[in-house]
Amino acid sequence: MIYIYLDGHTKMNDVQTAVQIFMPNEKYKPAEGITDESITVRSKLKDDCAVAYIYENGKEICSESYPYTADESGKSARYAIKAAVYYMLKKKTGITVPWGMMTGIRPAKRINTYIDEGMTADEGAKKLIELYEMKPEKAELAKRVALAEREILSKADSDGVSLYIGIPFCPTRCLYCSFTSYPLGVYKNKVDGYIDALIKELSYIGESIKGKRLDSIYIGGGTPTSLTAEQLDRLMTNVGEIFDLSALMEYTVEAGRPDTITADKLKVIKNNGAGRISINPQTMNDKTLKLIGREHTVDDIKRVYAEAREAGHKNINMDLILGLPGEGTAEVENTMAEIEKLAPENMTVHTLAIKRASRLREQLEDYDLAKAVLMEKLLDISASTAERMNLSPYYMYRQKNMLGSFENVGYAKKGCESVYNIVIMEETQSIYAAGAGASTKLYDKETGRIERVFNVKNVDEYIARIDEMIERKRNMNI
Ligand code: SF4
Repeated sequence: MIYIYLDGHTKMNDVQTAVQIFMPNEKYKPAEGITDESITVRSKLKDDCAVAYIYENGKEICSESYPYTADESGKSARYAIKAAVYYMLKKKTGITVPWGMMTGIRPAKRINTYIDEGMTADEGAKKLIELYEMKPEKAELAKRVALAEREILSKADSDGVSLYIGIPFCPTRCLYCSFTSYPLGVYKNKVDGYIDALIKELSYIGESIKGKRLDSIYIGGGTPTSLTAEQLDRLMTNVGEIFDLSALMEYTVEAGRPDTITADKLKVIKNNGAGRISINPQTMNDKTLKLIGREHTVDDIKRVYAEAREAGHKNINMDLILGLPGEGTAEVENTMAEIEKLAPENMTVHTLAIKRASRLREQLEDYDLAKAVLMEKLLDISASTAERMNLSPYYMYRQKNMLGSFENVGYAKKGCESVYNIVIMEETQSIYAAGAGASTKLYDKETGRIERVFNVKNVDEYIARIDEMIERKRNMNI
């Protein structure tokens, strides 16, 4: 538990986000003063500077101040509050974090804002370095992603819409899963009923977006290839009949786990017009695959990949995870070497932080720091592999739950980027979503705001209450 004591101001969020940079996964509690137990972070605002202190069991162990000149908006005082806490914890821990003081999860969005305000991309990157003490290579990454996004968003603009279709079934549950996913063993008999409900919802959406330009379709999950080839064909045939696919820039089926992919399903996907698939190994090490609960081997991944090429798939994405249990540089180097041999057009690299309860002292010492140092190395390995494969970063967001808040990055060959990934990240067009747990995001051009309409998560509820899900959309004028 970290107690946060605000002294002379009320900017709790600024203090907490700055503390979280160095101490993620902690519980935070406001305090009226310095507590005798555990850790207290105190943030004091004076007329000309902000001061941050840290106390352990009531005893001060470090402090730092940051000057500001008062302005009407209060912006400089807020910046100073955050900066004082950041520099104080940096001094106390000796840790340099790659993204510096930046706490937002979408750094590229910030550069895009700067560009919209009239800066060049290089000036935007320079500003990130100055303002947030960001490492130059991270600012460069944010810049490259921002520029790639701009190019795609100039075509997939707010006049177009995208469609998401959720298939919440998986053969088994992976160790690290945080998605809506139901084991197929138990839900097998419900899949047809689920597809019926899905088609009903899609038919409604199809009617309501008639006349709008459909830019991208993403069938995700779960694992869409948990469906049989016939079920997948029924779903995709209906999608083709309900929607006008003539303007589509992207149609992705996240095939996902190799243990569910067959040559038949790959043909179904291809024949129904999907041009991009994901085959997601996560790692190319058999030992780890077993450990994370995947029922397939590296050889299965290679076989499925070859079958996808045979079926004519020309845009394949492979999802990988860095930081899986037991994996260090040797394992990741092996994974990258194998991926390089396969040469997919897309590679998406996620960073994983296995959460564990930790106390401050541990956090300030070895465990998380070692993990953060390792993660940086692993990210470097993946970035240089992408470079060798001629894949450029086009999409990125940061993970908040680990020291360093490392990034997840999508790399792609030019012209093979996922439009859907970008529009969902940048929130600049409406995304209509069907299926259990799916949420429709309506973009308001005038205000730039997003309004959400949620479906129930539970599969049984979704099937039973499909008319209500449609009614929810109707009530929002969808
Ligand atoms: S394949 Fe994805 S959605 Fe399914 S259990 Fe594994 S992590 Fe979860």
